[in-house]
Amino acid sequence: MITARVQALLAELPVGVELVAAAKGRTVAEVLSAIQAGVKTIGENYLQETQMHQAAIGRLAAWHFIGSLQRNKVGLAVGLSDMIETVDSLVIAQAIDRHAGRLGKLMPVLIEINSGREPQKAGVMPEKAEELISQISHLTHIRIKGLMTMGPRTGDPEAARPYFTATHRLFEHLGQLGIPNVTMAQLSMGMTNSYQVALEEGANIVRLGNKIFDGGG
Ligand SMILES: *Cc1c(COP(=O)(O)O)cnc(C)c1O
Repeated sequence: MITARVQALLAELPVGVELVAAAKGRTVAEVLSAIQAGVKTIGENYLQETQMHQAAIGRLAAWHFIGSLQRNKVGLAVGLSDMIETVDSLVIAQAIDRHAGRLGKLMPVLIEINSGREPQKAGVMPEKAEELISQISHLTHIRIKGLMTMGPRTGDPEAARPYFTATHRLFEHLGQLGIPNVTMAQLSMGMTNSYQVALEEGANIVRLGNKIFDGGG
């Protein structure tokens, strides 16, 4: 089942769009099926689960951290991840930089945007993104590759569209600034219920869990 769903998705997604299988709560067997069906990138919310998956699966896929990152866990996240999609503060970026330096690693990251401007939610406010990115751009062991957003939780995919549109606009604007060490190449938006809208609004990474593992959507 996972195999057929992944193959259908890979056929559906436009060329150049990266499918991230969001693996929270999934067994090693489920994650492995997704990889064997052609998924190249696994998205993880929890570091213990990442360790459990990686212990069995190794580096057959790339691993993106997509969860909320606590400062005392940054070292672990840097060691386990090929990209961290959820950077939203200078303090976290500095911790990533320090740990990446120690590991001799250049850590690719996305800046998470709080596109819904929701007070309790993760992500930097859109109007603060430029300042944050220029501060982070001075760090030696971290490289900003683009933006990520969740958008407000809503049942209606169309309701997410304005947040995706605004994040895409911000992505384009930031790219045009030509900040040294910063590339705006990857735009991670869209989950099971909203990925089609996100693709229409310029996403080139979609993060799908339910759609792959449960057949939802
Ligand atoms: C769980 C999760 C997803 C996938 O959500 P689905 O609705 O299962 O597709 C995507 N992004 C993040 C950050 C998640 O935590």
